[in-house]
Amino acid sequence: MEFEFTAEQIQLRKQVREFAEAEIAPHVRRWDEHSEFPTEVVKKLGELGYLGVIFPEELGGAGLGYIEYAIVLEELARVDGSVGLIVAAHTSLCSNHIYIAGNDDQRRRYLPVLAGGRKLGCWSLTEPEAGSDAAGTRTSAVRKDNSWVLNGAKTFCTNGGQADVCVAMAVTDRSRASHGISAFVIEKGTAGFRPGRKEDKLGCRASDTSEVLFNDCAIPAGNLVGNEGEGFVDSLRVLDGGRISIASWSNGMAMGAYDAALKYSKHRKQFGKPISEFQAIQWKLADMSTEIDAARLLTYRAAWMADKKMRYTLESAKAKLFASEVAVRVANEGVQIHGGYGFTKDYPAEKYYRDVKLCTIGEGTSEIQRLVIARHLLRE
Ligand SMILES: Cc1cc2nc3c(=O)[nH]c(=O)nc-3n(C[C@H](O)[C@H](O)[C@H](O)COP(=O)(O)OP(=O)(O)OC[C@H]3O[C@@H](n4cnc5c(N)ncnc54)[C@H](O)[C@@H]3O)c2cc1C
Repeated sequence: MEFEFTAEQIQLRKQVREFAEAEIAPHVRRWDEHSEFPTEVVKKLGELGYLGVIFPEELGGAGLGYIEYAIVLEELARVDGSVGLIVAAHTSLCSNHIYIAGNDDQRRRYLPVLAGGRKLGCWSLTEPEAGSDAAGTRTSAVRKDNSWVLNGAKTFCTNGGQADVCVAMAVTDRSRASHGISAFVIEKGTAGFRPGRKEDKLGCRASDTSEVLFNDCAIPAGNLVGNEGEGFVDSLRVLDGGRISIASWSNGMAMGAYDAALKYSKHRKQFGKPISEFQAIQWKLADMSTEIDAARLLTYRAAWMADKKMRYTLESAKAKLFASEVAVRVANEGVQIHGGYGFTKDYPAEKYYRDVKLCTIGEGTSEIQRLVIARHLLRE
């Protein structure tokens, strides 16, 4: 077994960290307060090659793997959960769906512009009545001559109000349940396609979460992604990779919350000494650090398996479940270590506390991860 990063991976982490601290950190509080989407930073991330880490160079990607993708997400989320979330939805949901299920023409058309950050992507599976039970999709797509006509409303779409390219799931054959759902790619500006209400959220407020609405939206027949009826099954494959990204994103926020708490504990004095000298605080820090290590090991194992083209559904579900719950616990203890100041906006602890809650909900709740894991265990 190898537990070391390569020299190139260490260098990549250093570069992303420097970028995040110089270009993201100074703006985080303002973006959060005003729910301001970080358009310029997203463009720069594209120019630096961080929006296409897992895609081949001939399609405009960086030609790297999930380990490098995990490094990039950790370092971005360590500084701002919103930026990490924008990158995760763009890369491992929208772009990756086109990459794994699209045809050559679609890959060539969309991946270079998405990987280069010239266009932003979103991916829309969830509907008001179809959350955990995503196979309950109601949005429909009806074939008319050389077009598909989409009707319906999607909800909770990350980047939904900002994206240029949307991959959305719609029912093409209601009699075939989950095998009657297909995926489509829709471009901004298409008649009958528009973002709806933007959510006013607890955390990750600089990311955009919006409805995506289709009203007699006609798209060319060639915009079907993958085979007709296989959009839901392809979505499950997309979500396998998505869980590595949500686990890495959780780890990044946990690392940020821990770093902030460690720093604070060394400076804050009570009873004549830094609070880091109290055993109660030391034990918290020890537990936080140990759990983060364990979560990262699970995540890098899943990433390694993805890079080796092994089956990793079980491992990515375990990584996502554990990492997301660790992030919530770590951010909670981070606030506790800051005492009353952790409850104010003078320190980053409260923002981590708000941002991390999404980790146990998005891309399959903790309950759904346990269901996926248990199904595998019982099948074995
Ligand atoms: C900020 C944000 C961004 C998002 N981005 C995207 C995106 O980009 N694209 C997209 O398609 N979706 C996105 N989502 C949707 C997200 O994936 C769903 O919110 C999530 O899957 C849960 O669905 P739900 O909210 O409808 O909850 P529900 O499914 O209604 O669940 C409610 C509760 O019931 C539990 N539950 C449900 N079914 C079971 C069961 N069988 N057994 C045990 N417990 C169960 C759940 O775990 C949860 O605790 C986003 C959501 C948020 C909040």
